Amino acid sequence: MTIEMTVVHSIEALQGMLDRNKREGRKVGFVPTMGFLHEGHMTLVKQAREHNDIVVMSIFVNPAQFGPGEDFEAYPRDAKRDASLAKEAGVDILFMPTPEEMYPLDGGVRILPGPQSKVLCGASRPGHFDGVLKVVLKLFNIVDPDRSYFGMKDAQQLAIIETFVRDYNLRTSIERVPIVRDQDGLAKSSRNVNLTEMERAEAPVIQQALKKGALLFNKGVSVDEIEQEIAAFITENSSGIMDYVSLLSYPALTEWDGSSDEAILACAVKFGKTRLIDNTIMSTKGWLTCSE
Ligand code: AMP
Repeated sequence: MTIEMTVVHSIEALQGMLDRNKREGRKVGFVPTMGFLHEGHMTLVKQAREHNDIVVMSIFVNPAQFGPGEDFEAYPRDAKRDASLAKEAGVDILFMPTPEEMYPLDGGVRILPGPQSKVLCGASRPGHFDGVLKVVLKLFNIVDPDRSYFGMKDAQQLAIIETFVRDYNLRTSIERVPIVRDQDGLAKSSRNVNLTEMERAEAPVIQQALKKGALLFNKGVSVDEIEQEIAAFITENSSGIMDYVSLLSYPALTEWDGSSDEAILACAVKFGKTRLIDNTIMSTKGWLTCSE
């Protein structure tokens, strides 16, 4: 289906359009992204489309969430292709600000996420979630959405944003969307395009390892053993270098002691220069379909 879509680059233009729609009682669904769109992003849009009158997508590669030496420059970008995919998916307003529009000044005010940001990706990427919360708060204030859609692919990000929204009474509901995968099990990611042919062929090992870990979890195997099994499986069956593998409670992201309803088994693996993340959410009742 092809519908009309408006592309806006300025905050003022976006807010003018949104104000008119809100005055007429329309509900706004928001899908923040960094672009180079794929089916994972499309699924977020699909859900937003179903439950809201207006769908706003933002595309902004946020410099504040990249550390020194990370892949800010190498992050894939293609504005034209993205605009065409967003239109096809049913986005009404595509917001594509420049870094100058988003960060004209930096007065040094910082938002510091709590303990959930110190583990998993937060341990290997110090400051990453400060930058995520900074842009998320700015985008929420700019768009003022009724509902905001986030993927379980970035389960730690989602958990931290849920806490932020709850702790600071932000006026949007956060909607979780399951991980979308390629047929061979690799989680869709904008970064997959940076994999060489060989790395791409090896990368499904990540989900295979997580599946193995989930089975061990269901059998009552200890956290340490599960983590070791996963790391061994990945390094023995691919050229991937483990960044981390960790089994924690979800969404608190504290040590797993069996007392919470859900656990997360998450890992980050480097294939050459490309760092891939993936996870599975498990309950004491078994492996939840949301990560399949
Ligand atoms: P990104 O553009 O990578 O920052 O992602 C934008 C949003 O899309 C985030 O909420 C991600 O969690 C979500 N997302 C990215 N990849 C996937 C995927 N494979 N399945 C579901 N959601 C995804």
